Amino acid sequence: MTGVLVLNVGSSSVKYQLFDMPTETVIAQGHKDRIGIVGGDYPSHDEALAQMVSELPDTVTIDIVGHRVVHGGGLFTEPTVVTDDVIQTLEDVSSLAPLHNPPNIAGIRAAQHALPNATQVAVFDTAFFRDLPAEAFTYALPKDLRERFGIRKYGFHGTSHQYVNQTLQAVSDPPPTKVITCHLGNGSSMAAIVDGVALDTTLGFTPLPGLVMGTRSGDIDPAVVTHLLREGMSVDDVDTALGQEGGLVGLTGSSDMRDIIARAEAGDDDCELALRIWAGRIRHYVGAYWALMGGLDALVFTGGIGENSAVLRKQVLELLAPLGVVVDVSANDTADGEAEKISSQASEVAVWVIATNEELQIARHSHLLAGGGR
Ligand code: ADP
Repeated sequence: MTGVLVLNVGSSSVKYQLFDMPTETVIAQGHKDRIGIVGGDYPSHDEALAQMVSELPDTVTIDIVGHRVVHGGGLFTEPTVVTDDVIQTLEDVSSLAPLHNPPNIAGIRAAQHALPNATQVAVFDTAFFRDLPAEAFTYALPKDLRERFGIRKYGFHGTSHQYVNQTLQAVSDPPPTKVITCHLGNGSSMAAIVDGVALDTTLGFTPLPGLVMGTRSGDIDPAVVTHLLREGMSVDDVDTALGQEGGLVGLTGSSDMRDIIARAEAGDDDCELALRIWAGRIRHYVGAYWALMGGLDALVFTGGIGENSAVLRKQVLELLAPLGVVVDVSANDTADGEAEKISSQASEVAVWVIATNEELQIARHSHLLAGGGR
């Protein structure tokens, strides 16, 4: 029996789950908000982690701490045991994910202090996309820029895409070969997966492009950025417009899908348009990935929106009728479990709703790497 604590540390919050591995039993879980904020009377990451560890049940020894790290850059493509060199290298790639990696690193340091005897393992959001083909990850930019600045598509949410695809393989008979996974939450992305290997994904060098997200624009003409800069906007203001004030917030004033659906149903034109743009962007990538893979066996919805909104799943699936997708309306309306099929017998593509579990996937990877033999 091995205790694996999984930490997902953001700039102002920590989510944690303590697993007993390999049984995958959840022993404790929770989150702490309002940490590490500069300028207020808030606990540091170190203080919050120490307090959290002191509150965990002492029936289990924590042997391994698995950390979610958003950006592995080009260097980390596998779960990695954290050493001083690893932390140094992570700091070097932090400029690629300035909002995400610094808190991830603060979490690793805090866990080293709080649990000095545990093996610390970093699991990267980018790792599942390490084998993208060159034509998928290469941007058509000057070679020296690409090489100097490490500019390429990295992809994110890899832990979630991999987890739901593995679950799909376990529950489907026969297991599907050509799969599209749609992680639709506050951050959203899709992946084209053939035989468990990712061929393309919608997020890129950063977690900004692709689908319309809660506060991120997704795809736009990149010349909009240079235009706004020339018009006198600051780099930070453009960054905010794209990353924090874009997406659903930019279209409707709200990033909460429940709110937007309710307002659309009440006749709000902006919300109704936002939903059409949102669903249309998913159709765009389903079409592209269908062509890329030469067909489609299964489509998976996951994430807060994908798992919970029958209305939006139906709106997307109706757009996919040309691919032979037929929804089982009652299965779609009632799907709320771990893994449920929501397409009808007549559908040429099996459609599933599968709850993601990034923490469990991180626990599995960490345990396999650091504690598999115990
Ligand atoms: P994060 O990316 O922060 O982990 P989640 O995966 O939890 O986010 O997804 C959050 C989104 O899911 C929000 O836009 C929220 O409104 C949406 N959501 C949650 N439940 C529902 C629901 N029943 N119907 C529509 N949207 C929902």
